[in-house]
Amino acid sequence: MNIILLGPPGAGKGTQAHRLVAGRGMVQLSTGDMLRAARTSGTEMGKQVAAVMDAGQLVTDEIVIGLIAEQLDSNAGNGFIFDGFPRTLAQADALGELLKSKGSRLDAVVEMQVDDEALVGRITGRFTCGECGEGYHDIFKKPAVENVCDSCGATGAFKRRPDDNEAALRTRLMAYYKDTSPLIGYYYAKGQLKRINGLGEIEEVAARISDALDG
Ligand code: ADP
Ligand code: ADP
Ligand code: ZN
Repeated sequence: MNIILLGPPGAGKGTQAHRLVAGRGMVQLSTGDMLRAARTSGTEMGKQVAAVMDAGQLVTDEIVIGLIAEQLDSNAGNGFIFDGFPRTLAQADALGELLKSKGSRLDAVVEMQVDDEALVGRITGRFTCGECGEGYHDIFKKPAVENVCDSCGATGAFKRRPDDNEAALRTRLMAYYKDTSPLIGYYYAKGQLKRINGLGEIEEVAARISDALDG
């Protein structure tokens, strides 16, 4: 089953994608993670997108569609989870075409609904493990032992994103409402949209997603 996790920054897409990978053997394709990896490894493309990302703007459709196209030939496990992609109608059309060309299709689009006020709190408290990518939060998901990753045991490897500040978040929210939210209507019209409440405990949200996918 191939699915999209759709929602504003901080909706919990990455958190829930990690759980689906662990629980269902699905493969997460996060364009945000791919772009950050390109920056870390210092590729020409990575340098080109750095300032755009830090400001909270969208990088070009051409770049992210290229990144996804490269991954679709890799082992899909029990299906792909598209996390943070597509973010524009052009990206959504391109994804449909790419999947079709591989003889595959999209099975569901899960829209994670979270209030704007809650997003600000989630984004400003977010940090991740630099070793394994596990996500944490200052209030909602603290590691069991301070400074040690629950998931891989790394010490002192936590990091915060340069775009997780209020100014960049405002720009990212604007990009979401302007360019990405039309995808809700697009996938509704295609009969693929499943809306879930993204507020509440991480476990509760995971259960709602499971119900939406299996129901
Ligand atoms: P996204 O990938 O949609 O931007 P994340 O999965 O990175 O969102 O979540 C944003 C922040 O909110 C992280 O710090 C994460 O630990 C936290 N978080 C995720 N889901 C929940 C939840 N249901 N309740 C409270 N905090 C959450
Ligand atoms: P979040 O988890 O907070 O929603 P992401 O990690 O998905 O953020 O994305 C971080 C940044 O990477 C975005 O603000 C944007 O600059 C860029 N980016 C990621 N995915 C896309 C995409 N599909 N289209 C355009 N830009 C993207
Ligand atoms: Zn870790």
